[in-house]
This record gives sequence, C-alpha cells and structure tokens, in this order.
Amino acid sequence: MPAGLGPRRARGTDPVRRSCCTNLVGVDAADISADLEHVLHTADQIDARGTELAALIDADYAGRRPVLVGVLNGAMIVMSDLCRAMHCHVEVDWMAVSSYGSGTRSSGVVRILKDLTVDVAGRDVLIVEDIIDTGLTLSYLVHNIATRGAASVRVVTMFRKPEALNAPAEADEIPDEFVVGYGLDYAGRYRNLRDLATLAPHVYR
Ligand code: 5GP
Repeated sequence: MPAGLGPRRARGTDPVRRSCCTNLVGVDAADISADLEHVLHTADQIDARGTELAALIDADYAGRRPVLVGVLNGAMIVMSDLCRAMHCHVEVDWMAVSSYGSGTRSSGVVRILKDLTVDVAGRDVLIVEDIIDTGLTLSYLVHNIATRGAASVRVVTMFRKPEALNAPAEADEIPDEFVVGYGLDYAGRYRNLRDLATLAPHVYR
C-alpha cells in the first residue's frame, strides 16, 4: 500500500473529540457549544460517508487522473478528507467564489474571487463542494469549467438541501436550515467543528 494510504486514525477513543465542539483543544469549548442548537451529522457519520464517497469516486475514475476542484473556503475539510481517502492519482486545485456574503441565504450572484491554476482543457474535473443549497453556485461553476474545454465535469458534495438543483444523488439530504461545521461557517466562525450542526437563535441576533 502506498505511503499515506493506510487505515485512518481511530476516532472516538479520544475524550477530547466526543462532542461537536470539544475538538477545539485549548479553546473554551463551553462557549462554542452554547452557540449550537442541533447536531445533524456527527463527525463519525461524516467520516464514514466520506470513506464511501471516496470509494465511489475511485471506481468512477479508475485509470484516470481527475482534477479535484475544491470550492473555497467551505470545501477545505471535505477536500482534505476525500482526497486522502482516495487511492487513485488526483490533482487538486481551488476556486473561491462568493455567493452568500455574510448572511444565511444565497445571493444568487456568483463572483470568482480566486481562479484555477491548472489548465482543465481535456481533463476530467470533479468539483468538490461542501453543501448545495439552491444549486446556483454549482450550476455556475459546472458551466464555467465546461466552457474551458474540460473532458468531463462532475460534482461531489457531502450535503444537500431539499430544493437543491442538479445535486448528485449520493449527497446526504439535510433539512432546509442554515448549518455550520465541517468547513461551513457563519460570519467566519465554526468551520473547525467536526460535526454538522444548526446554530442557536441567539447567534443571529
Ligand atoms: P447555493 O448556491 O447552492 O445556494 O449555495 C452554495 C454555497 O453556499 C455553499 O458552497 C456554501 O458555501 C454556502 N451554503 C449553503 N448552505 C449553507 C449553510 O447551511 N451553511 C453555510 N455555512 N453555508 C451554506
């Protein structure tokens, strides 16, 4: 087995990781948990799902070398987990777009803040996204990358909301609520939570 592709470190044995916010070693965890309402997916559930998705991607791209395009900043965690759980060769690149501002609903207007460095003409591109809400961001990105001459453009996402347009079937559907954790933020915070959770109402006030 190539270096780095061995079994992942077991989770759950470390008491620091048992709740969604106690991974914040050195930070007063109680402050963070007071901001959360419900945990929708635990770190272990997300981890298991990521392993399944990685196996599906490995099978789909067998014998090819896809370019994984992560959508910053939210997809940083899912990209890091997925690509390390995969066994096929990949290249990784990033785009940053803005579609939300600092609010909790998509503005519908997508702006590229950071573009690709890899030339994707003739390449198989897999866009790695954290969550699909309306699907507007991904529709824009798929079209944008296709117009650069990519051989194929597909999407993998961990989570989708009920009304999402063109979301991959494998994505876990979550309720139509604003969520944080596993890379997703609210006004720049909560990305480093290991679970996916909803915020308590007092945070929005
Ligand atoms: P869409 O264009 O599909 O409506 O929105 C996609 C982007 O909005 C996602 O990549 C993500 O960054 C952000 N987003 C959508 N839903 C949520 C959510 O519930 N929480 C957070 N933090 N970001 C979200």
